[in-house]
Amino acid sequence: MKPLVDTFGRVATNLRISVTDRCNFRCRYCMPEEGMQWMNRKEILTFEEILRLAKIFIALGINKIRLTGGEPTLRKDLTQLIAMLSPLPGLKDLGMTTNGFFLKEFAGDFYRAGLRRINVSLDSLAPDRFAEMARREAYQKVMAGLDELAKYPIRPVKINTVIMKGFNDDEVLPLVEFARARDYQIRFIEFMPLDGEGVWSRDKVMTTGEILDSIRRKYDLIPKETRADHVPADTFRFVDGRGEVGFISSVSEPFCESCNRVRITADGHFRNCLFSLEETDLKTPLRTGASDAELAELIRAEVWRKWAGHQINLATFIKPERNMSQIGG
Ligand code: SF4
Repeated sequence: MKPLVDTFGRVATNLRISVTDRCNFRCRYCMPEEGMQWMNRKEILTFEEILRLAKIFIALGINKIRLTGGEPTLRKDLTQLIAMLSPLPGLKDLGMTTNGFFLKEFAGDFYRAGLRRINVSLDSLAPDRFAEMARREAYQKVMAGLDELAKYPIRPVKINTVIMKGFNDDEVLPLVEFARARDYQIRFIEFMPLDGEGVWSRDKVMTTGEILDSIRRKYDLIPKETRADHVPADTFRFVDGRGEVGFISSVSEPFCESCNRVRITADGHFRNCLFSLEETDLKTPLRTGASDAELAELIRAEVWRKWAGHQINLATFIKPERNMSQIGG
């Protein structure tokens, strides 16, 4: 089958599936304190619908799937979905991004169901600061989850950290040392204008360049991978061999030219870009008798019309209607 290509010649091979828009945290860079108007449960794709779409996407060349949210572990029986997806022929990699709150309970189940990669969001190592960022007293629970995770060969464990100036920009080195001590790969993700409260502004973004400078004051780093490998992160190795650090520089150094990612929202809308202003509803045709071939054509058309990239740095930038928790990272 022809690959999923766009007019710039990029091929989509990496699918992010949001399994819920709900979250038990209220991270400042993502969701308002009062939360969002949650999607009606009837609007959320069932596991069978997700499985059917995943098979169609894999037939179109997708080989990596990442489960996202909101907070994916809030989705009831998520282990079942992992067990349905992980054995799919053609799927090389099944990962998940989580806030870690329920890892203590479910890490083992996720591993046994076939999950092999995990990214855990962690923005502070100080319980009070953690509570300030996530607006939840959950630091100890997340730490207990990371300890539980260590019992299973889910590797690499990546720590996703968003630095907001004025909040946790003084924790870059402590977070780096935490990750080195535990052999995690830490990834600093630039704060993006996708928050539900509209607090984003350029002066709150600690750029990759600034974070690198603060790390290099103490450690020598060598570049590991470049974007030619289609990974969103620029990764560096510590010269002393202890660990790696990655950077997702969507604002200061956009990497759209090599983007291979597409997304399905929890309510079954297909997005060719995190920041796209349009999307294709797959749920309605899925529930009204469309064939796999018809769904594949809708998917192919949506990828074909993918723009060159986000416009955060342009005067024409328009914030998408959905915020991060309604798209899935
Ligand atoms: S902003 Fe859109 S095009 Fe750019 S890397 Fe992200 S998903 Fe890809």
